[in-house]
Amino acid sequence: MAATEPTTVAPPAAHEGILRRQSLRESAARTYARSLPIVPVRARGLTIEGADGRRYLDCLSGAGTLALGHNHPVVLEAIRKVIDSGAPLHVLDLATPVKDAFTTELFATLPRQLADDARIQFCGPAGTDAVEAALKLVRTATGRTGLLAFTGAYHGMTAGALDASGGATDVRVTRLPYPHDYRCPFGVGGERGAELSARWAESLLDDPKSGVPDPAGMILEPVQGEGGVIPAPDDWLRRMRRITAERAIPLIADEVQTGVGRTGAFWAVDHSGVVPDVMVMSKAIGGSLPLAVIVYRSALDVWQPGAHAGTFRGNQLAMAAGAATLTFVRENRLAERAATLGARMLGRLQGLAAMHPCIGDVRGRGLMLGVELVDPDAEGPHDGAPPPAPALAAAVQRACLDRGLIVELGGRHSAVVRLLPPLTLTDEQAAAVLDRFADALTAAERTRHHPLPNDTGPSR
Ligand code: PMP
Repeated sequence: MAATEPTTVAPPAAHEGILRRQSLRESAARTYARSLPIVPVRARGLTIEGADGRRYLDCLSGAGTLALGHNHPVVLEAIRKVIDSGAPLHVLDLATPVKDAFTTELFATLPRQLADDARIQFCGPAGTDAVEAALKLVRTATGRTGLLAFTGAYHGMTAGALDASGGATDVRVTRLPYPHDYRCPFGVGGERGAELSARWAESLLDDPKSGVPDPAGMILEPVQGEGGVIPAPDDWLRRMRRITAERAIPLIADEVQTGVGRTGAFWAVDHSGVVPDVMVMSKAIGGSLPLAVIVYRSALDVWQPGAHAGTFRGNQLAMAAGAATLTFVRENRLAERAATLGARMLGRLQGLAAMHPCIGDVRGRGLMLGVELVDPDAEGPHDGAPPPAPALAAAVQRACLDRGLIVELGGRHSAVVRLLPPLTLTDEQAAAVLDRFADALTAAERTRHHPLPNDTGPSR
């Protein structure tokens, strides 16, 4: 941000007043606002400026939404162009040139086999809306009601999406073990752990007395995000594709967080070559504005007209911003960039792990990175790894904020520090992010036996 720009920064008293009024007036369910007590007033790229005049490097990126960082020039230009053209901003699900261009660009990025025979449904604007649409679609198409979902999954906060997420108890949802190297449910990890998780799925599906309700679909994240940054092995994903195809069970890939280059491929399923029957997309596809869609094989398109309606399915600004983002990521090969830079950052984090026993595991794919903090001296749970250290993770997050770095917490026990920087991250910015993180970790470790109050709540 240039020093000559007019300042809109509020004085510290105003900043504190805004935070105080927020905590008085907003719901107890507020999440990020609890662990990140900042009042953003301006932002560009990786940087957010708070009302108190402080600057932060933002590795939360709107929970993985901002593929190009804040206010990227191509996104702003696309939005301005629509506004200046006099086009209507709200059109329900009517056809417009903006929507037509968005759909063409999106289809150009999708696995060919899907795009060549696909339908797109514009849903309500959130990721969870698209998950609901996907579940309803496969239930309508198959006439079955059961669902296969995975331990540690996160698909959203509306009723059906919540049922599909780990921690829910819907009787129609059968919970299958997601492969997890570090905390393997079978205690073995690696290829063997993934193999056992696949066999468990097969045996449940083929055992007539397993009690599994006939599944309308299987929903999975190719890399679990909120569950603690857990990449599924490519072989395991291909196996899930085979298992579902052989049993005529539609496979739903939830790419809400992994899409648009984040994991080092345009879509995370591209790593394995798996072609799902349904893809769920949101976050980055709206170029920082709300937009969600499902794309699915045309054979599943058995809905009656109006079967899945909604008022806010025609956000023209989001479609324009989204199309500009998709084009920019594609033309500038930002997925490849995420793969290379992500691998380098992962390497540096692994180096950090060698010096800090409180880092139990470092993992990720592309620019979706996670550092699991543990208590190395305590007796671990049955998975063989030391117990997670959520209070330390909260202290690290706070120490990062003190050093001008915004990070997210995730994982089953909120003990995984997550980095989701924009794909436009430069080498210098990556180094600055990791320097601040390393410094914060050292500081938090020092105060380990006097942890700061943990008031983060679920980090979603
Ligand atoms: N699916 C996945 C994989 C997600 O990560 C999220 C959000 N973190 C959702 C669905 C829900 O999206 P939203 O918060 O926009 O409803």
